[in-house]
This record gives sequence, structure tokens and C-alpha cells, in this order.
Amino acid sequence: MHQKKKIAVLGATGSIGRSTLDVVRLERERFEVHSLAGGSRIEPLVEAAREFGVKRVAIADAAKHDELARALREAGLGKTEVLAGERAAAELAADPDADMVLHAVVGAAGLRPAFAAAAAGKRLLLANKESVVCGGELLMNAVKMGGADLYPVDSEHSAIFQCLAGAGEEARRGARLILTASGGPFRGRRDLSGITPAMAVKHPKWSMGRKISVDSATLMNKGLEVIEASWLFGFPADRIDVVVHPESIVHSMVEYADGSVIAQLAMPDMKTPIALAMGWPERIDGGTAKLSLAKIGSLTFEEPDREVFPLLDIACRALREGGAATIVLNAADEEAVAAFLDERIGFTDIFRVVEETLEDCAGLGAPRSLEEIFEADRSARRAARLIIERLA
Ligand code: NDP
Ligand code: MG
Repeated sequence: MHQKKKIAVLGATGSIGRSTLDVVRLERERFEVHSLAGGSRIEPLVEAAREFGVKRVAIADAAKHDELARALREAGLGKTEVLAGERAAAELAADPDADMVLHAVVGAAGLRPAFAAAAAGKRLLLANKESVVCGGELLMNAVKMGGADLYPVDSEHSAIFQCLAGAGEEARRGARLILTASGGPFRGRRDLSGITPAMAVKHPKWSMGRKISVDSATLMNKGLEVIEASWLFGFPADRIDVVVHPESIVHSMVEYADGSVIAQLAMPDMKTPIALAMGWPERIDGGTAKLSLAKIGSLTFEEPDREVFPLLDIACRALREGGAATIVLNAADEEAVAAFLDERIGFTDIFRVVEETLEDCAGLGAPRSLEEIFEADRSARRAARLIIERLA
């Protein structure tokens, strides 16, 4: 029996974090939860800390330190160490005792923990796509320099990782990536007026956090994923395609020079890519239902509607442009989605905020450090907020 792998679960109280804990529950002989990090909610964090008996717990909201410490004491976890503040999750990511870091914090707040895990040479199971979109080459270099192993958790990227497994340099050179997209809740609509937050977060196939659900509804999520795929696998924008596949059974594909297409299929359940990242090169059963193609009957595919959903192309343009464009894109989107969820702006205003912020921040140079990424992120948020105020 080999030693249990110790995992730091960042974003533990969210959709991916909870699915990760589900996988650990099934594989207690192999994995142990070493630490947990959340944003601001205490109750689910303490609940998970109690169940898994973790050594360290972090909360991003610094004002919640004492309340969390008290709640842990009352739960009989007086010895559990409490960390609080915006650097707390990064500290857990770099903890020498943790073997793996499952990173499912939402948004650019995930940058610091991603760089910390990379520098500490961890096995990094990465769901937080925003850190790849903003970190780009700097993050990929940090992974290399730190000797870390990065396994994507985003389902499309997990699929591509599997479809590329075993392909040598030559084979990759002539290949194209084909990302599948569910199309979101508004697929087929020509008119996106009158969409409320409640409508936008109700995804037809996946149950996810609110931010990524809105991104799926605008197709920004697919734009972010094209950028993510480009950095993770070293493919330029013009060798990455997107096809809409409403059943969400084919999670993505790779087309090779000979016309062969390798796809990965599974029921839509994030426990599959999470378990893959935890176990690779072994495959462990994370509890996802097995696929029955006969029951499903047919799989359908269509072109994305790039006119009604302009953010897909806008994101691809930002990738081609380089510099700080993808950081600006991400920051503007985070601000716009938050404003939409607060009912300060309408659904299609998200498109305007992103597009105009990119115009306002055009020409920002490529960052040379993590701190410069934060600088670009801050300037873009300032510009986006001004646009939001005007629209609100
Ligand atoms: P959720 O909103 O469900 O969860 C977000 C988690 O991050 C929560 O634990 C939240 O804590 C925590 N958090 C929020 N802000 C901070 C912060 N500043 N520092 C540390 N932790 C913070 O999101 P999801 O689980 O849906 O998504 C997480 C990430 O995974 C995103 O980047 C998303 O794009 C990606 N992803 C998600 C998929 C999915 O199916 N859900 C699929 C593919 C990728 P609290 O509960 O206290 O707010
Ligand atoms: Mg995805």
C-alpha cells in the first residue's frame, strides 16, 4: 500500500471543490484532504474541515478570521490552523506537506495560488481557468521552472489532454484542437433581451458556480477555454476550433493531419476530469455514471452563433493580440458578470462592457511578472467600472 496523497482543496466550498470532496470520499485509502480554502462562507468550510479532519483552513475574507477560528473551536477543531486574507490560499498551495493542489477558486483571485503551486513544484489540478487566461506564458514558465505537473480539470482540456496522450511532437504539429460547447441556456435564440440572472445561471447540462454559468450563457466561457487551451497545449488560436454539441457527451477532440479525430466521451459530470487529474496515469472511478450511447441515441453538432454571441470571437481576438489583452478581457468580464448578477446592467451589456474595456485598454504591454498582471487587471477593472456606471 503506498502512502496517501495529501490534497489542498482551494475553492473547497464551490461546485468543483464539493465534487472533489466527493471523489475523495470514494478513495479514502489513496487520498487525504490536507487543507481547505474558501472565499467568505464559514459554515460549509467548517463542515468539510470537520468531516475530513484537516490541518489548515484558509478564508480569503480577512475580516472573517476570528469568526472562522471560533466556529472551528466549537466544532472540536481547536488545533486546526486558520489563515485569512488574499494570500491565504496561496500559502496552502505552497505548503510543503501537500502533495497536490486542487485549484477551484473562481476568477483572477486564483492567480496567486496558481503561481504559488507552480513555484512549489506541486501536482496542480487546475480548474481555475482565469489564472491561465491571465497568467499565460508567465504561468507556463513558472510551472516549468518550479518542476510542477499541471493537470487540467476543465472538462474540455481534460479531454484534449487524453486525446493528445501518446502523440509525439510531429503528430501534434499537424493537429487541430476541437473544443465542444454545450451552447448554454440560450442556444438557438436570436434575441437576448430580457434575460434575468436566474435565467442565465440555469444551465441545461452542468450545475456550476454562478460566474461560470453566466460565462457559459454568453459563450465567454468557450472564449476563455480557447485561450486556456492555447497556453496549456501550445496551440495557436487558428488551430483551435469550437463546435456546439448540446448533449455534452463528447468533451473535446483532436484532429490529426491524416483526418483522424480522437474524442473523449463521458457523461457530463466534473468528477470524471477531477478523478483523472487526481489519479493520472492511473484511472480511478470518481463515481460518474457510466455512459450508455444506445440510451442517448444520437449526438448532434452545430456551428456556434458568433453573431448573437460575440464574446467568443472577441476572446479569440484578444488571444491573437497578445500583450495584456487577455487579462483585460478577463477583468472586464468578471466586472460585467458581477454587475449583471447584481442586476445593475442587462445581459447583453456584458458584451459592451468587455468590448469597450478592450478598446479603452488597447496597447497595454505584456506583463513581466505576477505583480504586473495585477496592475493590468486593476486598470482594466477601473475602465470596466466606468463603463458599467454609464450603462447602469
Ligand atoms: P463556485 O462559485 O461554485 O466556487 C468558487 C469557490 O471559490 C468557492 O469555494 C468560493 O468560496 C471560493 N472563492 C471565491 N473567492 C475566493 C477568493 N478570493 N479566494 C479564495 N477562494 C475564493 O465556482 P465553480 O466551482 O463553479 O468554479 C471554480 C473554478 O473552476 C472557476 O474558475 C471555473 O471557471 C472553473 N470551472 C468550473 C467548472 C464547473 O463545472 N463548475 C467547470 C470547469 C471549470 P465561498 O463559497 O466562500 O464563496
Ligand atoms: Mg469547460
